[in-house]
Amino acid sequence: MSYNNMEGKLVIISAPSGAGKSTLIDNLLKRGVNLEFSVSATTRKPRGEEVNGREYYFMTEEEFSKRVDNGDFIEWEEVYANHMYGTLKTELHRIWKTGNHVLFDIDVKGAMNLKNIFGARAISIFIMPPSIAELERRLIGRGTDNADKIKMRVEKVVEEMNLADRFDEIIVNKDLDEACEKLYQVVTNFLSP
Ligand code: ADP
Ligand code: 5GP
Repeated sequence: MSYNNMEGKLVIISAPSGAGKSTLIDNLLKRGVNLEFSVSATTRKPRGEEVNGREYYFMTEEEFSKRVDNGDFIEWEEVYANHMYGTLKTELHRIWKTGNHVLFDIDVKGAMNLKNIFGARAISIFIMPPSIAELERRLIGRGTDNADKIKMRVEKVVEEMNLADRFDEIIVNKDLDEACEKLYQVVTNFLSP
C-alpha cells in the first residue's frame, strides 16, 4: 500500500517516560489544532483510567504477534522488556480520511522509523526533561507506577536522551506554560500550508 498518494502530515512526539509528553499533548489538542491522536497497540496492561481504544488498543502478546505477522503495523518496538508497542496502518488511514493530520506519541526508535518512512511530511519533536532527578520525581508524583516500573523507565532515559539530537526539534519541559507555547508554535508552523 502506498502512503504517498494520501494527504496529511505526521507530528511525531517522543520523550522519556515522565518528561511531560501526555500533559503537553493534552494541552496542544485542547487548543484546537487540526490533529488527531494515533492510538497505538500495546501488550502492557491498562493503568489508571485508561480505556481500550482511547489511550491504546490493549492486546495480548498472541494477538500482537499475529498482527505483526499479518504486516498490520507500520512500525513496532519492544519498548520495555516484554512490552510491545506499535502503530497500526489502519490508524493512519482512519485519521487521514477525516482530513486531519496524525499525532504520534511513540518511543525514540519508532519516531526515527516513521521519520525515515515519511521524510518531510513528518516532523519529529523530542520533549526533554530538565534533569533525570526531576523526571524521577514526576514519575513518583504521578503515582501510576510502582518502584520497579519507575526503575525500568528511568534506566531507559539515558539511551533515549542520547538520540535527541536526531530529532527536528527539542523542547525542554521545565516551565510547563512555556513548553506548551513552544510546542504549539512549532506544530502550527509545520502544519500551515
Ligand atoms: P509522560 O506522558 O511523558 O510520561 P506526564 O505528562 O504523565 O509524562 O507527566 C508526568 C508527571 O509530571 C505528571 O504528574 C505531570 O502532571 C507532571 N508534569 C508535567 N510537566 C511538568 C512540568 N513542566 N513541571 C512539573 N510537573 C510536570
Ligand atoms: P507508556 O507505557 O508510558 O504509555 O508508554 C511507554 C512508551 O511506549 C512511550 O515512550 C511511548 O511513546 C511508547 N509508545 C507508545 N506507542 C508506541 C508505538 O506505537 N510505537 C512505538 N515504537 N512506541 C510507542
